[in-house]
Amino acid sequence: MKLKFLGTGAADWAAPDASGEYRRLTSTLLDNSLLIDVTGPALDMLPDGAEVTDVFFTHSHRDHFDPEALRALAPCRVWAHESWADEISGDGLTVTPLKVGEPVRAAGFTLTPLPSNHSTEREYETTLHYLIDKDSVRLLYATDGAWLLNYEYRFIRRLQLDAAVFDATIGDGHDGDYRVFEHNSLPMLRIMTSTLKRTGILKPDAPVFLTHMARTLHPSQAELEKAATPPFVVCFDGLEAEI
Ligand SMILES: [Zn+2]
Ligand SMILES: [Zn+2]
Repeated sequence: MKLKFLGTGAADWAAPDASGEYRRLTSTLLDNSLLIDVTGPALDMLPDGAEVTDVFFTHSHRDHFDPEALRALAPCRVWAHESWADEISGDGLTVTPLKVGEPVRAAGFTLTPLPSNHSTEREYETTLHYLIDKDSVRLLYATDGAWLLNYEYRFIRRLQLDAAVFDATIGDGHDGDYRVFEHNSLPMLRIMTSTLKRTGILKPDAPVFLTHMARTLHPSQAELEKAATPPFVVCFDGLEAEI
């Protein structure tokens, strides 16, 4: 399974920062055909030859769901939780509502929607993570959301993951930040990852990709990479990985 991180930033990235670093809003491409979340800036990073047939949304926040960018990808299939899927429309878009725990097949993948600890202004919305399977490779895609909900943990606890992608909105040195109830911090990720490794859910050599970094809550990419030890991989826009 080939991952390409088109955008790796949280909602506060509108433009390059003072040092010239830039993260587009978070969006990830799998095997050149399946996109998780879509925003205008991230579309610039689509590789030549990508043929997006399916777009899965984690939730409706504007840094993940950009209706105009989505329409630019039509015709394609669109997948979102049933609580808000009927709000998505456009010429050439075929929208399928998702239910938690019920796997669907798309573009050769099997995706199981799992609930995440996150929320939007749509109070009725269930926000999602995805368990993604293809050709005996299994990925947990877990952004946005703080920790894993107990439902999600119970769902994956008898499985083995080849890799995980996590919301890493908050960096080190931000103890007391209010966002810990909706996003992860690096200290939270170290705790969670060590449990996932020790319980065998994450395979011993499974990488943990960090994405959705907030502009105001992290140092530069170079400093972040220096501080990150395996299994963490600090994503940047355009990073490609094979798992
Ligand atoms: Zn976000
Ligand atoms: Zn969000």
